[in-house]
Amino acid sequence: MIDDARWEKVTNLTGFDGNECFQCGVCTATCPLGYMGEEDMDVRNLMRRAQIGLDISETVWNCSTCKLCEQSCPRQVEIVNVITGLRQLEFEERRAPDKTVKLLWDIYETGNPWGGKKMERAKWAEGLNLKDAREGTEVLLYVGCDAAYNKNLHKSLRGLAEILKKAGIDFGILGNEERCCGEPVRNAGERYFLDDLVRDNVAQFEKTGAKTIVAFSPHCGNMFNTIYKKSGMKTEVKHYSDFLNSLLRDGKVTLGKEARGKITIHDPCYLSRYGDGPDNLREMFSLFPEVELKEMSSSGKDSLCCGGGGNRMFDDFEGKRLSDFRIEQARDTGAETVITACPICNMNLLDSAKTNGVNVRVKEVAEFLEENLK
Ligand code: SF4
Ligand code: SF4
Repeated sequence: MIDDARWEKVTNLTGFDGNECFQCGVCTATCPLGYMGEEDMDVRNLMRRAQIGLDISETVWNCSTCKLCEQSCPRQVEIVNVITGLRQLEFEERRAPDKTVKLLWDIYETGNPWGGKKMERAKWAEGLNLKDAREGTEVLLYVGCDAAYNKNLHKSLRGLAEILKKAGIDFGILGNEERCCGEPVRNAGERYFLDDLVRDNVAQFEKTGAKTIVAFSPHCGNMFNTIYKKSGMKTEVKHYSDFLNSLLRDGKVTLGKEARGKITIHDPCYLSRYGDGPDNLREMFSLFPEVELKEMSSSGKDSLCCGGGGNRMFDDFEGKRLSDFRIEQARDTGAETVITACPICNMNLLDSAKTNGVNVRVKEVAEFLEENLK
């Protein structure tokens, strides 16, 4: 039944973003969760429910916020904003899944959604003698929770720090004092906690005097460039791959060893569709004459999501995951290495390669570059 008060609440939370929808169903047909997995994701139906204020189905938690549907929508409906607004409603009406509530408590208590110890956040940097950004710095390297608490990514983080040192960049980190950027909180629909986190983080960032924040994860970078900027933060924000590309272009670091072989690039959604687009990564690899880039069947702006965005990273999956499909697509190109530029994609693809016995190496851009610099 249609209830006016509820309609008003839904439309306010979704910012009326769903109103342009004319129910063509292109989004449902485009959503990879529907056509690749066994999950239910009737996007068109969710948009309808948002328009008229009907109860929302629990499928709202399935979305990985990949934006693939959005770029095909003939009415340019901001589908992810509608879905995030609907999650807010679900959260406020106490229908959020238990695991969502748990990760919010983890962030509140430890500053990260993985439940890792606060005092172990900067373990990756042991022995590197990096500057504490709170002493003042030009560039703040924001590590993010995923890479800080996943040992497989520590090599990439250390590689990135070594490249920045080689380039003579004045950079610092917040070490154990760094806290979650709040993306999982936004995905959970908890807007009040998110406001607190953003306010505290902006104050902490501004105290460093940094002119630029270099984010390791494109998810954090997107938070800073959207929600943080809306809240008044002025600092320039770059994803690390963009920053490294500028260092290469400006000759601040130079290539040394001759990298060889076949690679393929897995474009993270938060770079290819949310961020600067897919060209930066390709520009970087064009500098390696002996590296052959083999594109996957869906790449660049059409890249298939690894399935981990929108807090899906914290879910237990049964059956085939999107990253399983993606690692198979990577293998089918004949590439030996799949390049990632996002910790979530990296973790998912690595896991899929291992569990499915797919013989493709998964490597972050930072790790690849560090191995091939003078
Ligand atoms: S593609 Fe756009 S207009 Fe069509 S049903 Fe989906 S949201 Fe509505
Ligand atoms: S954002 Fe991605 S996962 Fe979410 S509904 Fe759209 S296509 Fe599906």
